[in-house]
Amino acid sequence: MKKKIAVIGSGFSGLSAAAYLAKAGNDVHVFEKHDHPGGRARQFTTEQGYVFDMGPSWYWMPDIIEGFFADFGYKTADFFEMISLNPQFEMIFSNEKIDVPESLGELKIVFEQIEKGAASQLEKFMQSAKFKYEVGMQDFVNKPCHNWAEFISLKIAKSALKLDLFTNFRTYVARYFKSDKLRTLMEFPVIFLGASTKNIPALYSLMNYGGYALGTHYPLGGFYQLVLAMKKIAEKQGASFHFNKTVERINTQTDKVKSLTIDSKNYEFDVVVASSDYHHTETLLDREYRNYDETYWEKKTFAPSSLIFYLGVNETIPNLKHHTLFFENDLDEHIDCIYKEKKWPEKPLFYACCPSKTDKNVAPLGKENLFLLMPLAIGINDEEVVREKYLTEMLSRIEKHTGMRDLQSTIEYKKSYCVSDFMSDYNAYGGNAYGLANTLGQTAVLKPKISNKKLKNLFYTGQLTVPGPGVPPSIISGKIIANEINKIKN
Ligand SMILES: Cc1cc2nc3c(=O)[nH]c(=O)nc-3n(C[C@H](O)[C@H](O)[C@H](O)COP(=O)(O)OP(=O)(O)OC[C@H]3O[C@@H](n4cnc5c(N)ncnc54)[C@H](O)[C@@H]3O)c2cc1C
Repeated sequence: MKKKIAVIGSGFSGLSAAAYLAKAGNDVHVFEKHDHPGGRARQFTTEQGYVFDMGPSWYWMPDIIEGFFADFGYKTADFFEMISLNPQFEMIFSNEKIDVPESLGELKIVFEQIEKGAASQLEKFMQSAKFKYEVGMQDFVNKPCHNWAEFISLKIAKSALKLDLFTNFRTYVARYFKSDKLRTLMEFPVIFLGASTKNIPALYSLMNYGGYALGTHYPLGGFYQLVLAMKKIAEKQGASFHFNKTVERINTQTDKVKSLTIDSKNYEFDVVVASSDYHHTETLLDREYRNYDETYWEKKTFAPSSLIFYLGVNETIPNLKHHTLFFENDLDEHIDCIYKEKKWPEKPLFYACCPSKTDKNVAPLGKENLFLLMPLAIGINDEEVVREKYLTEMLSRIEKHTGMRDLQSTIEYKKSYCVSDFMSDYNAYGGNAYGLANTLGQTAVLKPKISNKKLKNLFYTGQLTVPGPGVPPSIISGKIIANEINKIKN
């Protein structure tokens, strides 16, 4: 029988859950506090004509995203045009820069130039990464993770050793490469998972395959095109979207959610899926119904927050690629500031995205759209004067790299975004940008659970639960939750 289902939030997980739930014939209503969809992947346009994606910019694991579209009889190409970036990105060190080319064959040549024998090591690394990607994506990632029994299968048992679950990523990479630069290059994809590579299992070398081997892509018009396409698909299945609607309270009756309070009125639902940040969702419930208390969250390793600048530059910036990683300083020093010392880094690393190098839709002619991102500890003070200090530092390093003079004077649009904005815009615990880190102790069954333990009809999806942070995992998370709900008998 058709269920009336509320989805809280319209980020990737909410969009995905809504589409699958509506496809199964349910009456689905998405409530979003902002005036448009996308959550952390929202987009805004300035008066001058700059179009900024607010969050994700690395379109990796295209096969997973394509899988979502295929489930509804579409291809991404039905909605937007995709460009494969070449080079995928550039990494700047203090005395050298490395371009990561589009093809793995060319990347091997780059590796061999830096370290003798590194081409064949990369080949071996990638073979193992491909295996992990295939096992991970087919057998692990779609599990609801209620308990470990879900992982007991002959195939998984046979693969267990080859998955390198119990080796940390840092040690694993060091087995393959001697050069510090190559090691940093290979560690970079895993930094997306939100923890030091010393604490991430080597299983996640699957990310190197999902990135370097499958390529770095870009949807023309920006990452937001993916949001719009997913919303369209959800609507075609019958889902309804309600914007500027903040869910204020989740109301219960005995062992069930009865209604949601929105604009001070109560609306009844058979099932509720919360794609809002997990901790925030639980604050909408009376304490006795929460899965986890404050101590639980305090002990968790959160992925970082970020300092972001959206800059409209009224000149062309020479010698800058679409994606550039400014890694001139020590990676571990910055990582320690995020996780151990929880303070602003003295010698930061940062990332610059200049999508106008690929896409004329995102900046006026002859101008550049520049997005700068510096990962930061959650919960730290982010007053304007500190943000500006780091902007000056980042701009001077871009000037040094590009040879451009006085970049500051060419900025005709500027907006900063940091810890407190993540808190107020997304109700994000500590102002986290990327959810909960994928450390071994926070993987699979050890992640916050997808169902409420006391309320039969309340479910959680998104980057704070399984499978974890990132666009493809959030899309998968929505599918997992929809499968669980579609299994419920009336
Ligand atoms: C700066 C940045 C860069 C990133 N870069 C990449 C990248 O390059 N590649 C990649 O794969 N991933 C990237 N990520 C991660 C990726 O964007 C996220 O993992 C993903 O978008 C999370 O989706 P979600 O649905 O879990 O959460 P969200 O996108 O946060 O969606 C939750 C939604 O719930 C809404 N909401 C919250 N509370 C309420 C309430 N009470 N009532 C109603 N609505 C509510 C919010 O407004 C939001 O729209 C990046 C993230 C950030 C922040």
